[in-house]
Amino acid sequence: MKTLSMRFAFLFCIIAVIPLAAQKGAGFSHVEPPFWWTGMKEKQVQILFHHPSIEISQYKAQLQYPGVTLEDQKNVENKRYTFLTLNIGADAKPGLIPIVFTSGKKQIKYSYELKARESGEGRIQGFDPSDVIYLIMPDRFANGDPSNDSIPGMYEGVNRSKGGARHGGDIAGIIGKLDYLSDLGVTALWLNPVLENNQRSASYHGYAITDLYQVDRRFGGNAAYLDLIRRCHSRGIKVIQDMVMNHIGNEHWLVLDPPEKDWIHQFPEFTRSNYRSTVLTDPYKAEGDVQKMNNGWFDTTMPDVNQKNPLFAQYLIQNTIWWIEYAGIDGIRMDTYPYPDKDFMAEWARRVMEAYPKFNIVGEVWINNAGATAYWQDGSLNQDKYRSYLPSLTDFPLFFAVPAALTEQEGWDTGLMRLHETLANDFLYPNPGGNLIFLDNHDLSRFFLLVGRDLRKFKMGLAFLMTTRGIPQLYYGTELLMDGDGGYHPNVRLDFPGGWQGDPVNAFSREGRTVEQNEAFDYLRTLLHWRKTAGVIHSGKLKHFIPENNVYVYFRYNDEKTVMVVLNGNDEEVTLETSRFREMIKNARKAKDVLNGKRIEEIEKMILDPWSATVLELEF
Ligand code: CA
Repeated sequence: MKTLSMRFAFLFCIIAVIPLAAQKGAGFSHVEPPFWWTGMKEKQVQILFHHPSIEISQYKAQLQYPGVTLEDQKNVENKRYTFLTLNIGADAKPGLIPIVFTSGKKQIKYSYELKARESGEGRIQGFDPSDVIYLIMPDRFANGDPSNDSIPGMYEGVNRSKGGARHGGDIAGIIGKLDYLSDLGVTALWLNPVLENNQRSASYHGYAITDLYQVDRRFGGNAAYLDLIRRCHSRGIKVIQDMVMNHIGNEHWLVLDPPEKDWIHQFPEFTRSNYRSTVLTDPYKAEGDVQKMNNGWFDTTMPDVNQKNPLFAQYLIQNTIWWIEYAGIDGIRMDTYPYPDKDFMAEWARRVMEAYPKFNIVGEVWINNAGATAYWQDGSLNQDKYRSYLPSLTDFPLFFAVPAALTEQEGWDTGLMRLHETLANDFLYPNPGGNLIFLDNHDLSRFFLLVGRDLRKFKMGLAFLMTTRGIPQLYYGTELLMDGDGGYHPNVRLDFPGGWQGDPVNAFSREGRTVEQNEAFDYLRTLLHWRKTAGVIHSGKLKHFIPENNVYVYFRYNDEKTVMVVLNGNDEEVTLETSRFREMIKNARKAKDVLNGKRIEEIEKMILDPWSATVLELEF
């Protein structure tokens, strides 16, 4: 019964989609990229034409347009596809390129648009250690437009009673909370993938994309996304797009009617990735393990993409360039970075960074080991000579170290020593300051839970995150002391209270938050607003001292400024003699405590509260 009704829904969807798609021109169901630009760094563009019924590969393409030539037409085993490569000369002007497909007496005409590049203020800025990134799961933050909760012809509507269903959050909701985010002090947003996920279930998280050129209409579509980015840029907030190269959703049209069988990795029976990223750097690796890691499917509903197919590789690289140019995004967070073919990923990153030198990309490298993590950062001196061209990495080793440091018994290599030891491995990274550092995210248990719901330790973690090297990333709801266990994902993807009309509590406002939540919020807000203008934290050097008695002291410094950070990991008040830090403190006697604004007249001896962070601007 269930199967029958699902089949019916599927047929209905196909019938509903075809007349709409036909309006795109000449009856093609897909023409991708849907348009391109003049004056791009790369002079060629490969255009995919997909027809729902005609064997378009039997047609020969021709075009006449000043400055543009047809370099190549490639056909593949599925005759409803053809691929054209166009050369776009420096003299080509924006306009419509008339393309004529001819087969005997039959002709199909298509006008392909070349646009002028946009050069708006604040577009494509990149992101760096001067930023604080705030990660939002768009379905779970705020529902600004209930009218898009369910879209006719799309599989999933809204059911807020289920953790794994859609809840209706959208881009309009985020736009409505930009004042809140500016007030908190974040400088960049990373949204979990916003592209269409027209999947039958679990489509809310965004990682099973079914259209690589379309923002999900339940989030507001492309128009809402462009609107969000413009509004963010006008208030000095950057936008980072979450992308996925490893897999697509099983309802993607490229899966339902693939150009070639080898666009998706196929196995005689369902084969899952082993998720063991370390095999890729392991000198003793078994080939079978590497194959499974790279080509096994991430999940049953997420077919694994073959980036070794040259047509698909070009398709994917162009898709990224299209989004940067079209939306003016500032950076990319690339999902599951080690899972796709690594030579393809290097080529992808090289071409993106060459086209947009100010851009930045952070790759998700989920490994608790600095050596195997550092391998993936551009400039790493790898024995196999692999060069990734990837500027930034997720710093999982530091993520694992922080809660351990704040909850373990102090020992030779435990307690706050963990932070010191983890950072001591930075010699492995070509650019440790480029690492993305975080306490939690959409896949991980909430930090407040990890430190035993102890507000003092929570604050220490935040103070450390905002003052050590790297690009800090927060996760929505951290400021509300959300405490979900990541063992079940929906637990850490709860709706932001107040994001939905009729919510009993509105935590976007001071009045809606508890006393403890306001304490956490205010602490973070103070740190972020201070950090925004603290150049020494963005680009200053780091020097730290071996922790003694579970007190960890480090400095961020440049020619103008020195910031001293003291973490006390003891249940008791501690009196700290600062003479051991003379090489950094030099002749400074006074300091300003940036967290409470108080002045300290004498820093020779400091009284530290139990489980506390002290952040001082030294005065020389
Ligand atoms: Ca909505």
